[in-house]
Amino acid sequence: MGFAQGRSYLAIPGPSVVPDAVQRAMHRAAPNIYQGELVDMMDGLTTDLRHVAQTDGYVAIYIANGHGAWEASLANTIAPGDRVLVLATGHFGLGWGRHAEAMGAKVDLLDFGNRATIDPDRIEAALRADTTHEIKAVLVTHVDTSSTVRNDIASVRAAMNAASHPALLMVDCIASLGCERFEMDRWGVDVMVSASQKGLMLPPGLGFVWFNDRADAVQTRLDRVSPYWSWTPRAKPEAFYQYFGGTAPTHHLYGLRVALDMIRQEGLDAIWQRHARLAGAIWAATDCWARDGAMRLNISDSALRSHAVTALSLTAPDASRLRGWTEEMAGVTLGIGLGMAEQGTPAADGFFRIGHMGHVNAHMVLGALGAIEAGLAALDIPHGSGGVSAAARALAAD
Ligand SMILES: *Cc1c(COP(=O)(O)O)cnc(C)c1O
Repeated sequence: MGFAQGRSYLAIPGPSVVPDAVQRAMHRAAPNIYQGELVDMMDGLTTDLRHVAQTDGYVAIYIANGHGAWEASLANTIAPGDRVLVLATGHFGLGWGRHAEAMGAKVDLLDFGNRATIDPDRIEAALRADTTHEIKAVLVTHVDTSSTVRNDIASVRAAMNAASHPALLMVDCIASLGCERFEMDRWGVDVMVSASQKGLMLPPGLGFVWFNDRADAVQTRLDRVSPYWSWTPRAKPEAFYQYFGGTAPTHHLYGLRVALDMIRQEGLDAIWQRHARLAGAIWAATDCWARDGAMRLNISDSALRSHAVTALSLTAPDASRLRGWTEEMAGVTLGIGLGMAEQGTPAADGFFRIGHMGHVNAHMVLGALGAIEAGLAALDIPHGSGGVSAAARALAAD
């Protein structure tokens, strides 16, 4: 028999759990797009989106997913033939680099593999070698959702400054925004991209690009920018008719309003702390399980691990068996391994990921961990015991 009946938990690293309040806000008749509530809402959305990114710069809103935001960021900053330096720490860093290449950029790739963070010394050396400043942008992923490493963005800016290099610093915060500390202006980030369906707790459908005056000055010097992706009209709330290059994403905007209210109410610091503490509980459990058996955290140094998503390896095909069990028997859907086969590490069957981003609390995390522990036992997958109580103790500690 199974135990999946009841509210399910999609514990994957995006799309994430959509709060009931956000769903309620989106459940409405089609609104007037010309005047009234929706139009009046725009200014506040922009203000709060800047707050979430900790920036006084601009934010452009697109009807797009994260891949669209990637493309938007490049369309406004890179001309065909420009060089970009891509810092890859997993599947998503490589993916953004491939988009840049497909859009005509010459990509210099610094690949740090699937289990490590960036090395600022190598970044500085690569930039120093570019004496003619052909590199126009440095692309880096804050949290790579496949390896689940968190990169130190301020250290990238420091390396760029040490090399006195004028390239733009562009950061993918799709997995981390609204989950992990991120301070765009203080860390010297010029362009940042994110999307609606992770820490921002909405369904997929909105892509965001934050940018500062430096980045905007680069954009105005480009020979052409594709009209749909140009950030200029989209960053102006008063240009609401043209704002989305067509019809506004009406229901998503209502949902976004509520999600941003929830973020304001909890407070960014509290949100960052909640994610850190819940991640600590998960690692307390996984450390126990790893003591006997094959389970391993993909990022061994906890200081480098994301607080929003955790990747684990397990002997193939046990990761797939476990995911099947937790979903069918316990109503918990775990994430698949992603991109790990690309660099010679075991294929997807040997990895799984736990998404703990956005609208997630202690009982959801403890429930997911309990389901995993039950699955490990039911499937006779060797593991150390006591994971769930270790997680509970981690949450009980001051
Ligand atoms: C999810 C994710 C993406 C891709 O976003 P989509 O909305 O699926 O296109 C890119 N980068 C990171 C770090 C992500 O977590």
